[in-house]
Amino acid sequence: MTKSLSSSEIKSRVQHIEDEISAAATAAGRNEREVRLMAVTKYVSAPVVNAAIHAGVRLIGENREQSLCEKYGELERENVEIHFIGHLQRNKAKSVIKMTSCIQSLDSCELAAELQKQLTAQGKTIAAYVEVNIGRDPNKSGIDPRQLPGFLEELLKYPSISVRGLMTILPLRLSSLENERYFSQMHALYVDIRSKNRDNIDIRELSMGMSDDFRLAVKHGSTMVRVGSALFA
Ligand SMILES: *Cc1c(COP(=O)(O)O)cnc(C)c1O
Repeated sequence: MTKSLSSSEIKSRVQHIEDEISAAATAAGRNEREVRLMAVTKYVSAPVVNAAIHAGVRLIGENREQSLCEKYGELERENVEIHFIGHLQRNKAKSVIKMTSCIQSLDSCELAAELQKQLTAQGKTIAAYVEVNIGRDPNKSGIDPRQLPGFLEELLKYPSISVRGLMTILPLRLSSLENERYFSQMHALYVDIRSKNRDNIDIRELSMGMSDDFRLAVKHGSTMVRVGSALFA
């Protein structure tokens, strides 16, 4: 967190990424408004996050409770959504739901049960995306795609969790062909799952694509790209 980019540099990077998202959407015959940019702020301090907010960013992603805690008080949060995108340990659930509106990394029934317990105690609800391990990478968390229908069925038990999307992190160092294959498998899963929405499950977002591959993700139907290093490194 030693980076100190100027506000004008951040502004031009935000604009550049927004333009690339629009171009990728248009090339794929999609409306650019279907895709939102999340700024992943794990690399930077609160003033840099605020500069991104001033540049028009409305969606922030953090992957560690401690890193979010450290900057939370300083963030200019009006009209800004903060999502949690990292692996969430159960003992951090209580703290994280106070600071965020969505957990993008819901990946176990144990976590869902703990979230439900804390949400009941705090008298609130939260949005969540199910993290899918589409590459079935043993080093990554996330639900095996074959287990997704059963997992969603389980989530019907937790009424304070509004299941609103799917999220994925691809295995590292794939060829762009392999990237595209996984993105398109995720999109197919998303389309299929959406046709089965009910009760607290109303899936509308497909969170996929990072700095190196967000254009490909948009080509394959992503509705939210999570960009960190291309904005802040
Ligand atoms: C860090 C991170 C990102 C952003 O990665 P970049 O390659 O820096 O854009 C996206 N999603 C998650 C879950 C992350 O932890």
